[in-house]
Amino acid sequence: MSKVKYYYDSESLSYRKIERKKRKTFAFISIFLLASFLFSFIIIFIANLYIESPKEKALKRELQNAQLQFELLNKKMDEAEAVLTNVADRDNNIYRVYFEANPIPDEQRKAGFGGINRYKNLEGFDNSELIIESNKRLDILQKQIVVQSKSLDEITVLAEEKEKLLTAIPAIQPVSNEDLTRMASGYGMRSDPFTKARKMHWGMDFTAPRGTPIYATGDGVVKRADAGSSGYGKHIRIDHGFGYVSLYAHLYKYKVKKNQKVKRGDLIGFVGSTGRSEAPHLHYEIFKDGTRINPINFYYGSLTAEEFSKLLEHASLENQSLD
Ligand SMILES: [Zn+2]
Repeated sequence: MSKVKYYYDSESLSYRKIERKKRKTFAFISIFLLASFLFSFIIIFIANLYIESPKEKALKRELQNAQLQFELLNKKMDEAEAVLTNVADRDNNIYRVYFEANPIPDEQRKAGFGGINRYKNLEGFDNSELIIESNKRLDILQKQIVVQSKSLDEITVLAEEKEKLLTAIPAIQPVSNEDLTRMASGYGMRSDPFTKARKMHWGMDFTAPRGTPIYATGDGVVKRADAGSSGYGKHIRIDHGFGYVSLYAHLYKYKVKKNQKVKRGDLIGFVGSTGRSEAPHLHYEIFKDGTRINPINFYYGSLTAEEFSKLLEHASLENQSLD
C-alpha cells in the first residue's frame, strides 16, 4: 500500500486526505514504462555493437573461411594463367609461325567482356570486389581456353595440309644412286645431241642401263602414261597436287596406268631410250603451276650432302644433253 498523504484545509480547519487523480497515475506509469523500454533498447543496442552473439561469431568465421577460399582460388588462377600464357606463347611463336598462320594478338586472347555489366548482381556486398574480380579472371581464363582450343583446331588442319604437301612434293631422285651410271646433264642451256645447237634443256638426264627401275618422286595421280607427246617417247606424268607435276621420259616400259594413284617411291616404269633420245637414260622434269623448274632443288633429304654437291656439280656442267 502506498503512503496516504494528508493536507491541512484552512477552510474546514481539518486534515484531509490527498486524493491522487487516477489519470495522473496512469500517465506516470506510462512514462515510466516508456523510459524503461527506451533504456533497455539503448542497452541492447550498445551490447549488440560491442558484444558478439555465438551465431554472429559462427557467421564471421564462415565469412573468413570463404574469403580464405577465394584467395586460394585466386592463387590457383594465377597458376592456370601462367600455364595458359606459356601455351599461348608457344602457339604464337612456334606452331602458328611454322604453319604460316598469323599470331593471335594478346588483346584478342585476353579480352574481357564489354557492353552490359555482367557482374551487377554481385555488387553491393562487403566482399563484392573480391568476388567480382575473381569472376572476371575466371571468365577471361575460360575465353583464353576457347581461343587456344580454336587455334589448335586450325593448326591441326594446317598440319594435315602441310603433311599432304610434304608427301606430295616431288622430293627424291627418280632413279636410285646405285643404279645411276652418272648424272648426264642438268637443267639449263645445253647442246642438242642431234643438231649440236645450243638450246634450253628443261629437265635432268640420268644415265642408267635399259630396264633400270624408275620411282615416283612424290605422292600423286598418274595423268599420262603414253607415247603421245612428241620427243618424250614413252613417258609418264604424275600430278602431285599443289601445282606440282613430274614428268619421266624415254621409258622402256610402264609399270603404272593412267589415273592410278601412286606413293613416293613406287616403281612406275623402267629406263629406256624411246622418243628423241641418244642413249638409254631418264629425262626428268618438274612443273610448278604449268612452268618447268629446275629439279635439282627438290632432292633435299634423299641425298647426303656429298652426293648432293656431286649432283650439283654434274648438273651445272654445260655439256651435251641426251634429251
Ligand atoms: Zn633430257
